[in-house]
Amino acid sequence: MGYTKEQIIHEVKENKIEFLILEFTDMLGDTKNVELPVEELEMVLENEAMFDSSSISGFSDIQESDMYLYPDLDTFLLLPSLVDEDRSARFICDIYKPDGTPFEGDPRFILKRAMQEAEDMGYSVNVGPEPEFFLFKLDSAGYPIREMNDRGGYFDASPKDKGDKVRRDIVRTLKKYGFEMEASHHEVAMGQHEINFRFDSMVKTADNIQTFKNVVKDIATNHDYHATFMPKPISGENGSGMHCHLSLFQNGDSAFYDEDASDGISKTMKQFIAGILHHASGIAAITNPNVNSYKRLVPGYEAPVSVAWSHSNRSCMVRVPTTRGKGTRFEVRNPDPTANPYLTLAVLIQAGLDGIKKEMDAGEAESRNLYEVEDESVPTLPTNLKEALGALNKDDLLLSALGEHTSGAYIEEKQKEWTEYSLQVSKWEIEKYMNK
Ligand code: GLU
Ligand code: MG
Ligand code: MG
Repeated sequence: MGYTKEQIIHEVKENKIEFLILEFTDMLGDTKNVELPVEELEMVLENEAMFDSSSISGFSDIQESDMYLYPDLDTFLLLPSLVDEDRSARFICDIYKPDGTPFEGDPRFILKRAMQEAEDMGYSVNVGPEPEFFLFKLDSAGYPIREMNDRGGYFDASPKDKGDKVRRDIVRTLKKYGFEMEASHHEVAMGQHEINFRFDSMVKTADNIQTFKNVVKDIATNHDYHATFMPKPISGENGSGMHCHLSLFQNGDSAFYDEDASDGISKTMKQFIAGILHHASGIAAITNPNVNSYKRLVPGYEAPVSVAWSHSNRSCMVRVPTTRGKGTRFEVRNPDPTANPYLTLAVLIQAGLDGIKKEMDAGEAESRNLYEVEDESVPTLPTNLKEALGALNKDDLLLSALGEHTSGAYIEEKQKEWTEYSLQVSKWEIEKYMNK
């Protein structure tokens, strides 16, 4: 934490580092990286590492394709699992244009802008994510097959749970990476697992999510499994979410806790929630970014369908856990782990701040199980990607949260994805209609 250039040069020498890995995230949420030999360290630290961005999603349709990678010194990490062999170190980078200004399509910049907005209003935000994933088996050529790694269920122990050793290896590795690890367990579906790590500030959490996903995939491969963050790999089973717990602070105190309120929840928190509910449909285009994402958001699988908030109900988009005081927070339940974490947190924060600025009303907490009760007055999340993109396209606040460059490129890219999907003829259709 808080490395200076001199400390980094010292660490690199001391640990006989050979390779420098410069990482960033593209618009679709994939980690990209370029590797430089250690002799380039000074050049990297002087922010002079240039790359051609013309084939990076969300970066490509700009006039100027030469971009610069500015390493964030706080993200310097000696890659411990490799330290004895390849001896690499990594930096997560911000993307800058040749004129020395930040590239407006860099997801990390978009999140930093949202963070600045919160700071300008006197707030700091913490986020704790809960990413879920499946482990699938591999065929003899090393490709994933649609067979889960075990038949276990929620909190099952070994030998029903055959993911325990994989999860332990993941936890061990992430601890070496400086993560503060929390609980890990078998999830509800066969082959489904969850590992939690401690909340942090927004950019740090988004960086951590990216590192987490890459470590999970690498370690799973070492155990001859394939880890997928696909939201709904098996129909009729629970899907994988990435709930995000948000808390807000002002002058070091929780802005969400009000000891005088009967439920302990401040007006600020209710307005923040109201902002998120108000912008829910457009938010979904970012937090649930795939065709497959919407197959998870259906009744009966602990994933939310209703745009409402509650204290305990899993059918609602927002849930407020019972903790009060500094730990007062709410959980946004619709995001899934394929979402770009930088853009996800940016839209959630900007929508929440909008709720505070406009003093929006979240209404009463929902106590009914909306999987079972039909109430047309309670809005639902979009039922497919097309609907979500349509809503995003009409939501000026979210469009400006993403910025003109990214909102345009994102909607165009995702509309193409929808069109490609809608031209497919599925196995289900063949079975259903072949005999007509
Ligand atoms: N897997 C569920 C989902 O799709 C969440 C289960 C839980 O509450 O942890 O969101
Ligand atoms: Mg879970
Ligand atoms: Mg949760």
